[in-house]
Amino acid sequence: MGTVLPSPKPEDRIFDCIVIGAGPGGLQAAIYLGRYNRDVLLIDRGGGRTSHAHFIENVLTHRLISGTEIIRRGLEQAANFNVRISTDLVTRVEKDGLFTVSTKGMTYRSRFVLVSTGVSDIFPPIEHLRRFLGTSYFTCLDCDGYRTTNKKLVVTGNSLIAVNLALAMKQMFTKDITFIPYQLKLPSSSTEVLNDEGIRVIEATPVRIIGDKIMEGLELEDGARISCEAIMASFGIKLNDDFLAGLSLKKNAAQFKYAVSSVYESSLPGLYIVGPLNTGQDQVVIAAGEGATAAIDINKRLLEEREKSGEVCSIAGPA
Ligand SMILES: Cc1cc2nc3c(=O)[nH]c(=O)nc-3n(C[C@H](O)[C@H](O)[C@H](O)COP(=O)(O)OP(=O)(O)OC[C@H]3O[C@@H](n4cnc5c(N)ncnc54)[C@H](O)[C@@H]3O)c2cc1C
Repeated sequence: MGTVLPSPKPEDRIFDCIVIGAGPGGLQAAIYLGRYNRDVLLIDRGGGRTSHAHFIENVLTHRLISGTEIIRRGLEQAANFNVRISTDLVTRVEKDGLFTVSTKGMTYRSRFVLVSTGVSDIFPPIEHLRRFLGTSYFTCLDCDGYRTTNKKLVVTGNSLIAVNLALAMKQMFTKDITFIPYQLKLPSSSTEVLNDEGIRVIEATPVRIIGDKIMEGLELEDGARISCEAIMASFGIKLNDDFLAGLSLKKNAAQFKYAVSSVYESSLPGLYIVGPLNTGQDQVVIAAGEGATAAIDINKRLLEEREKSGEVCSIAGPA
C-alpha cells in the first residue's frame, strides 16, 4: 500500500496577492505591493535563471552585479516592506472566487496571484557544461554576447535558430567563430551562408568541455578537439509552469507562451504573468518593469474592489 500523504494545511489569512517566483519580476512586484501596505506572500523554491547570471552589466546604475546579489538585495528590500517570504515549491493554483495556491505542505488563499517563475534552459549532455555556465557557456545573446567580444567562439545548437545566432554573433562580437550543428543536418544553403561569412562549420557532436577554471576547448565525439574560449548555445527553453496546468490559460499564437494584456493579466481575471513566461524578453529590467506594471494594476483593482464593496469612498484620481 502506498504512503498516505497528509492533506495540505490551509491558512486562514487571505492575502491581497500571492507572488510566485522571486526573480527580478516577482521581487519588483512584491516591493511595489509591499510599499502599498498590501498583504503579500512571496513563494520561491530557490534557484532559477537569475542565479546562473554571474556578470550582469546591463542594469541601470550597476556597472556589474551578479544575479544572486540582485536576488539577495531584492529579498531584503521586499522583507523591509513586510512582504512575507516562504521558500517552497508551488504545485497548484486554482480559482473559485478567491485563488488557492498550494505547495506540498500548505494551501494559501488570495485575491490576486502574480506568476513570475521564469523559464529554464535546456542543456545538451555535454560533460562539464555546468562548470562554465554563466562564465563562458552562454545561452543568451542579449545577456552575454558582449562578453564574447574578440574571443575564440563556438556557436552550437540543435535547430536552425543557431545559424542566425552565429551570424548575429559574427556581426556584433567576434570574427573567430566555429559553428557546430548539434545532431542537426544542416541544409547546404545554411552551410554556404556561414562559409560566406567566414564562419567554419564542423559537423560532429561535442561531448566534453575542456578546461579547469578557464574554458580551453571542446572535445568532439570522435576525440578531435577544437580550441575555444567561449560557447554560445541554442537548445531552447522550458517554461516553469507545471502548477498552472489546471487553469486552461490562453496561450500566444505559437501556443507556447502565455497571452497577457498590456498590464500582464492572463486570460484568467486576477492572475498576472510577468517575465519570459509571457512573450517578453528574458531580461532583468524587462521582468522587473513588467512586475511593477502588474503590481500597480493589482493595487488599482484592490482599491476598486474596496470601493465597490462600500468599504471606502471613491477618490478622484488622475485620468
Ligand atoms: C547565464 C545567464 C546570464 C544572464 N545574464 C543576464 C544579463 O546580463 N542581463 C539580464 O538582464 N538578464 C540576464 N539573464 C536573464 C535573467 O537572469 C532572468 O532570466 C530574467 O531576469 C527573468 O527573471 P524572472 O523573474 O522572470 O525569472 P527568474 O529569474 O528565472 O526567477 C524565477 C524564480 O521562480 C522560481 N520558481 C520557478 N518555479 C517555481 C515554483 N513552482 N514554485 C516556486 N518558485 C518557483 C525559481 O526558482 C526562480 O527563483 C541571464 C540568465 C542566465 C541564465
